[in-house]
Amino acid sequence: MLFKALDAAGRITEEWTVYSVGGGALSEGKGDEDAFRDAPVYDLTTLREIQQWCVRNGRGYWEYVGQQEDEGIWDYLREVWQTMQAAVERGIDTEGVLPGPLNLARKASTYHIKARAYRPAIQSRGMVYSYALAVSEENASGGTIVTAPTCGASGVVPAVLYHLAKAHEFSETKILHALATAGLFGNIVKFNASISGAEVGCQGEVGVACAMASAASCQLFGGSPSQIEYAAEMGLEHHLGMTCDPVCGLVQIPCIERNAFAACRALDAQLYANFSDGNHQVSFDHVVEVMKQTGHDLPSLYKETSEGGLAKEMGE
Ligand code: SF4
Repeated sequence: MLFKALDAAGRITEEWTVYSVGGGALSEGKGDEDAFRDAPVYDLTTLREIQQWCVRNGRGYWEYVGQQEDEGIWDYLREVWQTMQAAVERGIDTEGVLPGPLNLARKASTYHIKARAYRPAIQSRGMVYSYALAVSEENASGGTIVTAPTCGASGVVPAVLYHLAKAHEFSETKILHALATAGLFGNIVKFNASISGAEVGCQGEVGVACAMASAASCQLFGGSPSQIEYAAEMGLEHHLGMTCDPVCGLVQIPCIERNAFAACRALDAQLYANFSDGNHQVSFDHVVEVMKQTGHDLPSLYKETSEGGLAKEMGE
Protein backbone atom coordinates (compact mmCIF):
# COMPACT_ATOMS: atom_id res chain seq x y z
CA MET A 1 0.00 0.00 0.00
CA LEU A 2 1.28 3.42 -0.92
CA PHE A 3 0.56 6.24 1.53
CA LYS A 4 0.95 9.86 0.36
CA ALA A 5 0.98 12.86 2.71
CA LEU A 6 -0.34 16.01 1.04
CA ASP A 7 0.05 19.63 2.07
CA ALA A 8 -2.75 22.21 1.94
CA ALA A 9 -2.09 22.78 -1.78
CA GLY A 10 -2.34 19.06 -2.53
CA ARG A 11 1.40 18.64 -3.10
CA ILE A 12 2.94 15.36 -1.97
CA THR A 13 5.20 15.97 1.00
CA GLU A 14 5.99 12.39 1.90
CA GLU A 15 5.37 8.85 0.66
CA TRP A 16 5.46 5.51 2.41
CA THR A 17 5.19 2.12 0.73
CA VAL A 18 4.46 -0.81 2.97
CA TYR A 19 3.62 -4.43 2.16
CA SER A 20 1.38 -6.88 3.97
CA VAL A 21 3.48 -10.02 4.01
CA GLY A 22 0.82 -12.16 5.63
CA GLY A 23 -0.09 -13.19 9.14
CA GLY A 24 -0.52 -9.58 10.20
CA ALA A 25 3.13 -8.70 9.53
CA LEU A 26 4.18 -5.62 7.53
CA SER A 27 7.35 -4.91 5.61
CA GLU A 28 8.90 -1.92 3.82
CA GLY A 29 10.43 -4.43 1.38
CA LYS A 30 13.93 -4.04 2.79
CA GLY A 31 14.19 -7.47 4.41
CA ASP A 32 12.77 -5.86 7.54
CA GLU A 33 9.76 -8.14 8.07
CA ASP A 34 10.39 -8.42 11.77
CA ALA A 35 10.52 -4.64 12.31
CA PHE A 36 6.73 -4.35 12.38
CA ARG A 37 5.96 -7.49 14.30
CA ASP A 38 3.59 -7.05 17.18
CA ALA A 39 4.86 -7.00 20.73
CA PRO A 40 3.81 -10.01 22.78
CA VAL A 41 0.10 -9.92 23.54
CA TYR A 42 0.45 -11.44 27.02
CA ASP A 43 3.27 -11.53 29.54
CA LEU A 44 4.03 -15.24 28.99
CA THR A 45 5.09 -16.18 25.48
CA THR A 46 5.42 -19.96 25.52
CA LEU A 47 2.71 -22.53 26.06
CA ARG A 48 4.90 -24.29 28.61
CA GLU A 49 4.97 -21.21 30.85
CA ILE A 50 1.23 -20.70 30.51
CA GLN A 51 0.53 -24.36 31.24
CA GLN A 52 2.68 -24.10 34.37
CA TRP A 53 0.67 -21.01 35.40
CA CYS A 54 -2.54 -23.04 34.95
CA VAL A 55 -1.27 -25.95 37.04
CA ARG A 56 0.15 -23.69 39.77
CA ASN A 57 -3.07 -21.72 40.09
CA GLY A 58 -5.55 -24.53 39.43
CA ARG A 59 -6.94 -22.54 36.49
CA GLY A 60 -7.65 -23.12 32.81
CA TYR A 61 -6.12 -21.45 29.73
CA TRP A 62 -9.18 -19.24 29.27
CA GLU A 63 -8.70 -17.94 32.81
CA TYR A 64 -5.17 -16.90 31.94
CA VAL A 65 -6.63 -14.90 29.02
CA GLY A 66 -9.25 -13.38 31.34
CA GLN A 67 -6.60 -12.43 33.85
CA GLN A 68 -4.46 -10.73 31.18
CA GLU A 69 -7.27 -8.83 29.46
CA ASP A 70 -9.72 -6.24 30.76
CA GLU A 71 -13.37 -7.21 31.25
CA GLY A 72 -14.24 -6.07 27.71
CA ILE A 73 -12.70 -9.27 26.35
CA TRP A 74 -15.90 -11.28 26.85
CA ASP A 75 -18.07 -8.76 24.96
CA TYR A 76 -15.45 -8.74 22.23
CA LEU A 77 -15.43 -12.55 22.02
CA ARG A 78 -19.24 -12.56 22.00
CA GLU A 79 -19.10 -10.34 18.91
CA VAL A 80 -16.53 -12.69 17.35
CA TRP A 81 -18.80 -15.66 18.07
CA GLN A 82 -21.85 -13.91 16.64
CA THR A 83 -19.90 -13.06 13.47
CA MET A 84 -18.75 -16.66 13.15
CA GLN A 85 -22.28 -18.01 13.57
CA ALA A 86 -23.65 -15.53 11.04
CA ALA A 87 -21.01 -16.61 8.51
CA VAL A 88 -21.93 -20.29 8.97
CA GLU A 89 -25.65 -19.59 8.64
CA ARG A 90 -25.27 -17.36 5.58
CA GLY A 91 -22.92 -19.87 3.98
CA ILE A 92 -25.18 -22.92 4.41
CA ASP A 93 -28.08 -20.96 2.99
CA THR A 94 -26.35 -19.62 -0.11
CA GLU A 95 -26.13 -21.41 -3.45
CA GLY A 96 -24.43 -20.43 -6.69
CA VAL A 97 -20.91 -20.02 -7.94
CA LEU A 98 -17.90 -18.38 -6.28
CA PRO A 99 -16.36 -15.34 -7.93
CA GLY A 100 -13.34 -15.89 -10.18
CA PRO A 101 -12.30 -17.86 -13.24
CA LEU A 102 -12.51 -21.31 -11.60
CA ASN A 103 -16.34 -21.23 -11.68
CA LEU A 104 -16.34 -23.21 -8.47
CA ALA A 105 -19.82 -24.04 -7.23
CA ARG A 106 -20.64 -23.38 -3.58
CA LYS A 107 -21.13 -26.73 -1.81
CA ALA A 108 -21.99 -25.95 1.81
CA SER A 109 -25.72 -25.89 1.19
CA THR A 110 -25.92 -29.33 -0.47
CA TYR A 111 -23.51 -30.87 2.05
CA HIS A 112 -25.72 -29.58 4.83
CA ILE A 113 -28.90 -31.00 3.28
CA LYS A 114 -27.33 -34.38 2.44
CA ALA A 115 -25.79 -34.72 5.92
CA ARG A 116 -29.26 -34.64 7.47
CA ALA A 117 -30.19 -37.89 5.74
CA TYR A 118 -27.46 -39.93 7.45
CA ARG A 119 -27.35 -41.65 10.81
CA PRO A 120 -25.92 -39.56 13.68
CA ALA A 121 -22.23 -40.53 13.47
CA ILE A 122 -21.89 -39.72 9.77
CA GLN A 123 -24.37 -36.89 9.99
CA SER A 124 -22.26 -35.02 12.51
CA ARG A 125 -19.20 -35.30 10.28
CA GLY A 126 -21.20 -34.07 7.30
CA MET A 127 -22.49 -31.15 9.33
CA VAL A 128 -18.95 -30.15 10.30
CA TYR A 129 -17.95 -30.28 6.62
CA SER A 130 -20.88 -28.09 5.69
CA TYR A 131 -20.15 -25.48 8.38
CA ALA A 132 -16.48 -25.22 7.39
CA LEU A 133 -17.39 -25.02 3.69
CA ALA A 134 -19.98 -22.35 4.52
CA VAL A 135 -17.50 -19.99 6.16
CA SER A 136 -14.74 -20.64 3.63
CA GLU A 137 -17.16 -19.99 0.77
CA GLU A 138 -18.24 -16.78 2.47
CA ASN A 139 -14.59 -15.80 2.66
CA ALA A 140 -14.06 -16.65 -1.00
CA SER A 141 -16.97 -14.44 -1.99
CA GLY A 142 -16.06 -11.42 0.12
CA GLY A 143 -18.48 -12.10 3.00
CA THR A 144 -17.79 -11.05 6.58
CA ILE A 145 -15.81 -13.69 8.43
CA VAL A 146 -13.47 -13.80 11.42
CA THR A 147 -9.77 -14.25 10.71
CA ALA A 148 -8.99 -17.30 12.83
CA PRO A 149 -6.06 -17.19 12.49
CA THR A 150 -6.27 -16.03 8.84
CA CYS A 151 -9.00 -15.56 6.25
CA GLY A 152 -7.92 -18.62 4.23
CA ALA A 153 -8.23 -20.78 7.36
CA SER A 154 -11.29 -19.01 8.74
CA GLY A 155 -13.68 -21.98 8.39
CA VAL A 156 -12.08 -24.37 10.88
CA VAL A 157 -12.71 -22.81 14.30
CA PRO A 158 -16.30 -21.70 13.60
CA ALA A 159 -17.18 -25.10 12.11
CA VAL A 160 -16.04 -26.95 15.20
CA LEU A 161 -17.58 -24.52 17.69
CA TYR A 162 -20.85 -24.21 15.78
CA HIS A 163 -21.15 -28.00 15.64
CA LEU A 164 -20.43 -28.36 19.36
CA ALA A 165 -22.86 -25.58 20.29
CA LYS A 166 -25.62 -27.17 18.20
CA ALA A 167 -25.05 -30.88 18.69
CA HIS A 168 -23.74 -30.87 22.26
CA GLU A 169 -25.60 -27.80 23.50
CA PHE A 170 -22.60 -26.08 25.04
CA SER A 171 -23.63 -22.72 26.50
CA GLU A 172 -22.52 -19.41 25.02
CA THR A 173 -20.32 -18.81 28.06
CA LYS A 174 -18.48 -22.09 27.50
CA ILE A 175 -18.06 -21.30 23.80
CA LEU A 176 -16.57 -17.89 24.66
CA HIS A 177 -14.13 -19.54 27.05
CA ALA A 178 -13.19 -22.01 24.30
CA LEU A 179 -12.66 -19.11 21.88
CA ALA A 180 -10.33 -17.43 24.39
CA THR A 181 -8.26 -20.62 24.52
CA ALA A 182 -8.26 -20.93 20.73
CA GLY A 183 -6.97 -17.37 20.45
CA LEU A 184 -4.29 -18.01 23.05
CA PHE A 185 -2.88 -20.94 21.08
CA GLY A 186 -3.02 -18.95 17.84
CA ASN A 187 -1.15 -16.09 19.50
CA ILE A 188 1.61 -18.39 20.71
CA VAL A 189 2.21 -19.50 17.11
CA LYS A 190 1.98 -15.97 15.72
CA PHE A 191 4.53 -14.68 18.22
CA ASN A 192 7.00 -17.59 18.13
CA ALA A 193 6.67 -18.66 14.48
CA SER A 194 4.20 -17.45 11.87
CA ILE A 195 0.59 -17.74 10.74
CA SER A 196 1.43 -16.53 7.25
CA GLY A 197 1.10 -18.89 4.27
CA ALA A 198 3.57 -16.64 2.45
CA GLU A 199 6.13 -17.26 5.15
CA VAL A 200 5.63 -20.89 6.26
CA GLY A 201 3.05 -22.42 3.91
CA CYS A 202 -0.43 -23.68 4.71
CA GLN A 203 0.74 -25.49 7.86
CA GLY A 204 0.84 -22.00 9.42
CA GLU A 205 -2.72 -21.20 8.36
CA VAL A 206 -4.91 -24.31 8.23
CA GLY A 207 -2.53 -26.21 10.54
CA VAL A 208 -2.75 -23.48 13.17
CA ALA A 209 -6.51 -23.17 12.77
CA CYS A 210 -6.73 -26.91 13.42
CA ALA A 211 -4.59 -26.54 16.55
CA MET A 212 -6.81 -23.70 17.79
CA ALA A 213 -9.99 -25.70 17.18
CA SER A 214 -8.44 -28.82 18.76
CA ALA A 215 -7.59 -26.90 21.93
CA ALA A 216 -11.01 -25.23 22.07
CA SER A 217 -12.93 -28.48 21.63
CA CYS A 218 -10.73 -30.40 24.09
CA GLN A 219 -11.45 -27.73 26.68
CA LEU A 220 -15.19 -27.97 26.01
CA PHE A 221 -15.07 -31.71 26.61
CA GLY A 222 -13.34 -31.19 29.96
CA GLY A 223 -9.71 -31.76 28.96
CA SER A 224 -6.97 -30.94 31.47
CA PRO A 225 -4.32 -28.32 30.55
CA SER A 226 -1.98 -31.08 29.37
CA GLN A 227 -4.71 -32.80 27.33
CA ILE A 228 -5.65 -29.48 25.72
CA GLU A 229 -2.01 -28.79 24.92
CA TYR A 230 -1.71 -32.33 23.48
CA ALA A 231 -4.78 -31.84 21.28
CA ALA A 232 -3.38 -28.57 19.90
CA GLU A 233 0.02 -30.14 19.38
CA MET A 234 -1.51 -32.94 17.29
CA GLY A 235 -3.66 -30.49 15.35
CA LEU A 236 -0.53 -28.71 14.17
CA GLU A 237 1.87 -31.66 14.01
CA HIS A 238 -0.24 -33.56 11.51
CA HIS A 239 -0.24 -30.60 9.14
CA LEU A 240 3.55 -30.14 9.18
CA GLY A 241 4.94 -29.52 5.72
CA MET A 242 1.60 -28.59 4.17
CA THR A 243 2.27 -26.27 1.28
CA CYS A 244 0.42 -23.16 0.16
CA ASP A 245 -0.44 -23.51 -3.51
CA PRO A 246 -3.76 -21.78 -4.24
CA VAL A 247 -4.89 -22.35 -7.82
CA CYS A 248 -4.97 -19.05 -9.76
CA GLY A 249 -4.01 -17.29 -6.52
CA LEU A 250 -7.61 -17.60 -5.28
CA VAL A 251 -8.40 -18.83 -1.78
CA GLN A 252 -10.62 -21.58 -3.18
CA ILE A 253 -8.71 -24.70 -4.35
CA PRO A 254 -7.34 -26.36 -2.20
CA CYS A 255 -8.18 -23.96 0.64
CA ILE A 256 -11.93 -24.54 1.01
CA GLU A 257 -11.77 -28.34 1.25
CA ARG A 258 -8.74 -28.07 3.50
CA ASN A 259 -10.82 -26.17 6.05
CA ALA A 260 -13.43 -28.95 6.08
CA PHE A 261 -10.83 -31.67 6.64
CA ALA A 262 -8.99 -29.68 9.31
CA ALA A 263 -12.22 -29.13 11.24
CA CYS A 264 -12.81 -32.89 11.40
CA ARG A 265 -9.18 -33.50 12.25
CA ALA A 266 -9.50 -31.07 15.16
CA LEU A 267 -12.34 -33.14 16.57
CA ASP A 268 -10.22 -36.28 16.15
CA ALA A 269 -7.30 -34.61 17.94
CA GLN A 270 -9.52 -33.62 20.86
CA LEU A 271 -10.92 -37.17 21.13
CA TYR A 272 -7.46 -38.72 20.95
CA ALA A 273 -6.15 -36.34 23.61
CA ASN A 274 -9.15 -36.86 25.86
CA PHE A 275 -8.68 -40.66 25.70
CA SER A 276 -5.06 -40.16 26.83
CA ASP A 277 -3.81 -39.24 30.29
CA GLY A 278 -2.28 -36.08 28.82
CA ASN A 279 1.30 -37.40 28.78
CA HIS A 280 3.05 -37.06 25.43
CA GLN A 281 6.53 -36.60 24.03
CA VAL A 282 6.29 -33.69 21.60
CA SER A 283 5.21 -30.43 23.20
CA PHE A 284 3.18 -27.72 21.49
CA ASP A 285 6.14 -25.31 21.78
CA HIS A 286 8.34 -27.89 20.04
CA VAL A 287 5.96 -28.38 17.16
CA VAL A 288 5.63 -24.61 16.72
CA GLU A 289 9.41 -24.38 16.40
CA VAL A 290 9.47 -27.31 13.95
CA MET A 291 6.68 -25.73 11.91
CA LYS A 292 8.66 -22.49 11.66
CA GLN A 293 11.82 -24.31 10.58
CA THR A 294 9.92 -26.50 8.11
CA GLY A 295 8.29 -23.40 6.66
CA HIS A 296 11.59 -21.65 6.19
CA ASP A 297 13.02 -24.77 4.51
CA LEU A 298 10.13 -24.93 2.02
CA PRO A 299 10.98 -23.55 -1.41
CA SER A 300 9.18 -20.26 -2.12
CA LEU A 301 7.20 -22.06 -4.87
CA TYR A 302 5.07 -23.48 -2.05
CA LYS A 303 4.52 -20.28 -0.13
CA GLU A 304 1.58 -18.44 -1.67
CA THR A 305 3.33 -17.62 -4.92
CA SER A 306 0.99 -19.93 -6.90
CA GLU A 307 4.01 -21.14 -8.87
CA GLY A 308 4.22 -24.69 -7.54
CA GLY A 309 2.11 -27.66 -6.48
CA LEU A 310 -1.59 -27.67 -7.32
CA ALA A 311 -1.41 -24.08 -8.49
CA LYS A 312 1.10 -25.08 -11.17
CA GLU A 313 -0.67 -28.28 -12.24
CA MET A 314 -4.19 -26.90 -12.24
CA GLY A 315 -3.47 -23.33 -13.21
CA GLU A 316 -1.97 -24.21 -16.59
S1 SF4 B 1 -3.35 -22.97 0.52
FE1 SF4 B 1 -2.43 -20.97 0.99
S2 SF4 B 1 -4.04 -19.47 0.55
FE2 SF4 B 1 -5.02 -21.49 0.77
S3 SF4 B 1 -5.63 -21.60 2.93
FE3 SF4 B 1 -3.63 -22.58 2.74
S4 SF4 B 1 -2.18 -20.92 3.23
FE4 SF4 B 1 -4.14 -19.92 2.78
